[in-house]
Amino acid sequence: MTDSTAYRAHIGPDHGRTGLDDLCPVDDCDQVLRGDHLMCPRHWFMVPKMLRDQVWDAWRQRCAARDRPAGYAAARDRHEQVKAAAIRAVNEKVNARVP
Ligand SMILES: [Zn+2]
Repeated sequence: MTDSTAYRAHIGPDHGRTGLDDLCPVDDCDQVLRGDHLMCPRHWFMVPKMLRDQVWDAWRQRCAARDRPAGYAAARDRHEQVKAAAIRAVNEKVNARVP
């Protein structure tokens, strides 16, 4: 599957998660996340492809900026923003199904 790379891509020590037992941030999802996953695979693939690409791109830039303190804060903020947007997008889909 071509998207598997993008799914793995945002997983890393710099993802921002600290615990190993975080739950998927999507509403009513109790999937335990492994390592630094942003959300469980089922919900990750509900994120629009464009947004997934943005998460991946922002994560890459965040990693690239790690050694440059001046640019790191901006890269980190952008990454946090696209992650939040991805979670929001899935929540909207999930909640739209509830009658
Ligand atoms: Zn989930």
